[in-house]
Amino acid sequence: MSFSHLGLSDKVLAAVAATGYTTPTPIQEQAIPHVLARRDVLGIAQTGTGKTAAFVLPMLTLLEKGRARARMPRTLILEPTRELAAQVKENFDKYGAGQKLNVALLIGGVSFGDQDSKLTRGVDVLIATPGRLLDHTERGGLLLTGVELLVIDEADRMLDMGFIPDIERICKLVPFTRQTLFFTATMPPEISRISETFLHNPERIEVSKPATTATGVSQFQVRGGREPHEKRDLLRRLLRDAKDLNNAIIFCNRKREVAVVYKSLQKHGFSVGALHGDMDQSARTAALDQFRKGEIPLLVASDVAARGLDIPAVSHVFNFDVPHHADDYVHRIGRTGRAGRAGTAISIVTSLDSKSIAAIERLIGQTIPPAEGDYAVHPDASGGTDQPREHRSREGSREGSRGGRKPRREREPRQPKAGDREPRQAKGAGRSAKPQPEAPAAIFTPPASAQPSRVPSIGRPEPRRAQREVESEPADHSHLPAFLLRPVRARV
Ligand code: AMP
Repeated sequence: MSFSHLGLSDKVLAAVAATGYTTPTPIQEQAIPHVLARRDVLGIAQTGTGKTAAFVLPMLTLLEKGRARARMPRTLILEPTRELAAQVKENFDKYGAGQKLNVALLIGGVSFGDQDSKLTRGVDVLIATPGRLLDHTERGGLLLTGVELLVIDEADRMLDMGFIPDIERICKLVPFTRQTLFFTATMPPEISRISETFLHNPERIEVSKPATTATGVSQFQVRGGREPHEKRDLLRRLLRDAKDLNNAIIFCNRKREVAVVYKSLQKHGFSVGALHGDMDQSARTAALDQFRKGEIPLLVASDVAARGLDIPAVSHVFNFDVPHHADDYVHRIGRTGRAGRAGTAISIVTSLDSKSIAAIERLIGQTIPPAEGDYAVHPDASGGTDQPREHRSREGSREGSRGGRKPRREREPRQPKAGDREPRQAKGAGRSAKPQPEAPAAIFTPPASAQPSRVPSIGRPEPRRAQREVESEPADHSHLPAFLLRPVRARV
């Protein structure tokens, strides 16, 4: 099957040919003809399947007829994160280069004024995150009554992030007769329910099970201590030991942890950036750009910020925290081993993660073997604690007192319960750690103290204890020859 059989316009076919793609992916092959026939589509597909082009290409074909009116977009695409929204815009820029379409991005962290003036000029394609879109409609600067086609992308992620009420409000603002394309990676009952209310007699298209992990990815687990500083220490050893490490994403479960791990790695001389939902848009874009260009080989990220990002050729993924949702594991390690390349995914597993790891292994249908190498098992391997009881309860209550403000945009993971089963022992368990060889040159930068600017704070204040811990960590970059120290402009 070639693209020319799908009913796309000549302009769009020329743009596809210019990108070098010759064969449509299964989601493209199945969805494009239905979109062009003005049918509603329920697409069950995860990122990496080519689903963005599956709606962008037919939309470009449909949009060739007609003109945009001021403040009344013709089509609307809803994305859960700013990065995904920006990525969809890039797709329109790439495939729509030969068309004079106005494409606007309504995302947080960008001035209302600029977005407003773009809306006034008339917009063919509006790509938005739900919160910012509603801000504009409430200010009266945007009317959704002209929307002919609505795309709800990453619907299961929208659910995780608490966006479904916003989506329901938006759906009431667009005409009932619009065409709707609804994409989700998974089909939990709540998504099934809302898809029934948003879609009219949809064509259901399902491509490759989301639970499959790319075969080219070697997956390992390493047993770590429960204390964050022990995990950070282990992470550094893993980074230094990693074979063929070209670049890596290091995933943490919480934004707060992203900030702490980022600062710690930076302090230890690693060339690192950070990506999480509380950073302002320009900092997020800058970090991502630097990572894409290879200026920063390491990126510490939260799930929400990294979901669906198209970052080609990531050699390694590290799970600093085991994700509490097995689906997230699949998404995380899907960042490596793309397009048939080899990749490595290493998860730091503590005694609190046994249920999560068991759920992941069930989902991917394989056990994750221990990594080769001498990684000492920490005191909590016996189920013991790393800190005194009163300290633990104080930490717990501090967390609890902050719990009043629930983050709207980023999911709070389930807290592991006491009594979770112990994970399997990593290979080499019980042996003491050997001195580790030096890290590959590219992953280091000058020590934090030599950086031109102070490390800016990231979003919400970090817990003082974690910050103190990072500050008191002995930096271990003294062994680096001077020529390996290259400055990095990491704005977080
Ligand atoms: P997506 O699932 O939309 O995130 O797309 C994943 C990657 O697949 C992106 O880098 C696209 O540029 C690429 N892609 C999309 N369609 C095709 C195609 N027909 N052939 C090869 N690569 C594609």
